[in-house]
Amino acid sequence: MRWSRRQFVASATLASGAALIGKAAPAGIAGTAPDVDVIVLGAGLSGLHAAQLLEDAGARVLVLEGRSRVGGRVCTLKDLPGHPEMGANTMGSGYGRTLDVAHKLNVPLADMAPRMAQMAKLQLAFDGRLMTRDAWAASPKNPFPANRRNLMPWELVPRILAEANPLVDWSKWASPESAALDISMHDFLMARGLDDASIQLAFDTSPYYGTHSYEVSALMYEFNAGWGRSMASLGPAAYAVSGGNERLPEAMAGNLKGDVLLRKEIVAIDTGAAAASVVCRDGTRYAAKRIVCSLPFSTLREVRIDPPLQQEQARAVRTLHYQTLTLIFFAVTRPFWEEDGAGPSMWTNGPAGIVLAQYFGRTDSEVTGLVAQGRGQLGAHWDRLGKDAAMRLVQSEIESIRPASKGSLRPLRMHSWALQRFNAGDWAVFAPGEVAGFTAAMAVPHGRVHFCGEHTALGSRGMEGAMESGERAAIEVLSL
Ligand SMILES: Cc1cc2nc3c(=O)[nH]c(=O)nc-3n(C[C@H](O)[C@H](O)[C@H](O)COP(=O)(O)OP(=O)(O)OC[C@H]3O[C@@H](n4cnc5c(N)ncnc54)[C@H](O)[C@@H]3O)c2cc1C
Repeated sequence: MRWSRRQFVASATLASGAALIGKAAPAGIAGTAPDVDVIVLGAGLSGLHAAQLLEDAGARVLVLEGRSRVGGRVCTLKDLPGHPEMGANTMGSGYGRTLDVAHKLNVPLADMAPRMAQMAKLQLAFDGRLMTRDAWAASPKNPFPANRRNLMPWELVPRILAEANPLVDWSKWASPESAALDISMHDFLMARGLDDASIQLAFDTSPYYGTHSYEVSALMYEFNAGWGRSMASLGPAAYAVSGGNERLPEAMAGNLKGDVLLRKEIVAIDTGAAAASVVCRDGTRYAAKRIVCSLPFSTLREVRIDPPLQQEQARAVRTLHYQTLTLIFFAVTRPFWEEDGAGPSMWTNGPAGIVLAQYFGRTDSEVTGLVAQGRGQLGAHWDRLGKDAAMRLVQSEIESIRPASKGSLRPLRMHSWALQRFNAGDWAVFAPGEVAGFTAAMAVPHGRVHFCGEHTALGSRGMEGAMESGERAAIEVLSL
């Protein structure tokens, strides 16, 4: 596509409240038209990567972001000790696009693998009591089949997926030939010998995707497991940005020639014969030849699109699930785990969820805090309770399980991804039967609008999935 410098924009007036990351103010500031070829909606990794690739090819790009910061689901708690992450934590050795961009922008990376390995050493706290592996294997409360009783609850589903992943080629997960595998995790686990009690404990208590095993596609899990194995085969590293992952999207935004306007919530998208345009909540309107939309479907469903999306694509935008995940951060004033002899991280089947030690200090072994994760139904429960009551509940549960922790925990912050206006959930979750139909339709260009975002990635997950999708959307636009 050849980019003309012709002014394309019908009207634009920058609201006085809008913030700007960028070099010069856009032409629209004084009421004249900004001159852009592509408007990118959303300044997470996918949108920023698409914007950079389009600029590299000569396009003039404007990025509009609803929040007052860039990064979306890459989000660092800059005011807490060690700068813990509320969003994305680490990048694997196979994160080619993400690592490449970090290197090009001189964003310093550290290998967190030794720290992640420590964090992953979980203690089991079952019905409020710490238990060793041997005690769990012998416990009458252990519902697992005889040959699985020595597995901890969080180990069972990954083990089954690793042993018997029926998706032989994970890269084909979205193709129609894999559709027969698109059953519920409940059916998948029942077929591998688990009963309801085992599934409830090993899956529903703390699901990585969804709220319970009936609503989640086994095919999506199989893809995730296959992709994860493939990443691990490329190397053991788990990179994070020194000083916080949010420095990566900040560097990406800062490297753009065009402007990134913050606090620009998109409420409408119009795609016409000659141009496409967007309307922001503050009343401003921007137009361009093309739009690249990285909005998660959980927020895109609140945006009026004219003409409307059709059929499966419309259904996907309306109904795609997003993971419920709420995080509660604690400062720890005393290493109480040295008193009771168990490690600081633990998996509970109670209201404290999964409690993970944070290792963001100067050495690999320094614990800088704890974060409790409430996934699925527990996360929704904490959200309903509200911040103060949920933090009290989790703290008192940890203190009840670990009396040595009394007086050493200080709740700092609760963050619900489900209640975040500009995400309304964590990552996208496919329900049984949705994979082939949704993935074929979700990212199909709609007039002058192109779609990216982790939910549209077919070959990767997480941050790398976001980058993959931004690349695909940019290539789509440049191929016209
Ligand atoms: C707790 C957590 C842990 C994670 N851990 C990892 C990990 O360890 N490794 C990994 O690889 N990945 C991880 N991820 C996933 C990774 O963060 C995401 O896949 C990736 O950042 C998504 O990027 P994106 O550009 O697709 O979406 P987003 O980052 O969500 O970007 C979309 C942007 O659109 C904006 N927006 C939304 N609606 C509107 C609107 N109406 N108007 C204007 N702007 C709008 C949002 O504010 C946001 O900035 C994690 C995510 C979370 C939440």
